Amino acid sequence: MKIVIAASEVVPFAKTGGLADVAGALPVALEDAGQEVIIVMPRYKAVSDAKFKIKRVSENISSSVTGSNIKVYFVENENYFNRDGLYGDKSADYPDNLDRFSYYCKRTLELLKEINFKPDIIHVHDWQASLIPVYLKTLYAKDAFFKGTRTLLTIHNIGYQGLFPKAEFPKLGLDWSYFGIDGLEFYDKVNILKGGMVFSNLINTVSATYSKEIQTKEFGFGLEGLLNKRRESVFGILNGLDYSIWNPDTDKFILKNYSPAGVKDKADDKEDLQKICKLPLKKDIPLFGIVSRLAEQKGFDILAEAIDDICKLKVQLVILGTGDIKYHQILEERVKKYPKTISLQLKFDDTLAHKIYAGSDIFLMPSKYEPCGLGQLISLRYGTIPLVFKTGGLADTVKKDNGFVFDKYTSDALLKTVKSAIKAFEKKDKWLALAKRAMQYNFSWEESARKYLQLYAKAKKSS
Ligand code: ADP
Repeated sequence: MKIVIAASEVVPFAKTGGLADVAGALPVALEDAGQEVIIVMPRYKAVSDAKFKIKRVSENISSSVTGSNIKVYFVENENYFNRDGLYGDKSADYPDNLDRFSYYCKRTLELLKEINFKPDIIHVHDWQASLIPVYLKTLYAKDAFFKGTRTLLTIHNIGYQGLFPKAEFPKLGLDWSYFGIDGLEFYDKVNILKGGMVFSNLINTVSATYSKEIQTKEFGFGLEGLLNKRRESVFGILNGLDYSIWNPDTDKFILKNYSPAGVKDKADDKEDLQKICKLPLKKDIPLFGIVSRLAEQKGFDILAEAIDDICKLKVQLVILGTGDIKYHQILEERVKKYPKTISLQLKFDDTLAHKIYAGSDIFLMPSKYEPCGLGQLISLRYGTIPLVFKTGGLADTVKKDNGFVFDKYTSDALLKTVKSAIKAFEKKDKWLALAKRAMQYNFSWEESARKYLQLYAKAKKSS
């Protein structure tokens, strides 16, 4: 099959979250399965010539290679993409995001014609690429080039929909008839993700549980009705994990490599992490790690409520992340109060993330909702036991025999589960057996790519 992956961030070129991990790893797994794949993404400032061996294709298109031989095309626009941020700066989203990503979508379709790549499937991700299926079914509806092309929209987080004022609708180049309840209109605003959901052939999310949850009022962010209407076309495929990057046996960022049989060696990585984070070098205190956006979605509201009680227990806590200023402040205050218990690293730091996954005993991920979640998959691979709220992809991947799960979203339930984890940690032999078991869970991309290929085949049969 000829497949285009259209995403606004792709590892190793640009990343703000899990979307980039998926858009980087899935094409490689598809290539390994014998498919012909290309990627199209915007060219941000960070995609530098020197770092990625960029080649010029045309005046505003350049390219690089990933996997064995996957062409990555970059849509360039000095004005729109040559910026430090992908979607905004520290204070807010960029005000011209509709212009930026509608340009990216249009240019992607034109590019396919220029390079004569007639795709069977254009697999678009999140709202930033959602205008591709919209344009295919409207502006390009009669274009013979795309006659055999079908689309799959993957929703990585339905909380981000690309909402813009109605007054911006004409910039999309679409007839006003598409601004209606059956089109891109959403409470008198333009909703780009909704457009993608209406016009794509099939839709999926990144876990089976989340695909059901988003069809309910509680998790659907207002789009549950539409998803319900299209429920025959809505699927869930769990993300895989790129084990060439996340493997404690070969990880170059960690002090001591280890395999399941040598999980005891994790102790060296724990000591290394404690040193880096200036925490007391204590083997017997359970070290809880967090690598996360500091956002309510990630459970920081209940964590903020429980944190005083948690810090009074025999624990250490390393938190790596950036996000809501509110949580920066709350956590900074607690560091002052409990300097020997908490280490707070307010930044995005890939190296430190690896060290936290390896050096922690328990990975704390009490997300309020979680489409799939990568943190728990990574921590399992590193024998770091996840402690999670039972939701979305967390519910599908963490169970009693590989982690700690609570099913009421309250600070009390979180605290209670933290206490059980501390108790379990005290039984050393059992704990090592648990860590060893966790490491042997397999969430490889091979299986997920196989499921995506089945979905592509299904999309090909639709009209
Ligand atoms: P999200 O909702 O943010 O996409 P995921 O769990 O799906 O959450 O993926 C988050 C990814 O980003 C993981 O690979 C995680 O390790 C990484 N990550 C998150 N915050 C940071 C940070 N501050 N520094 C380094 N890596 C981070």
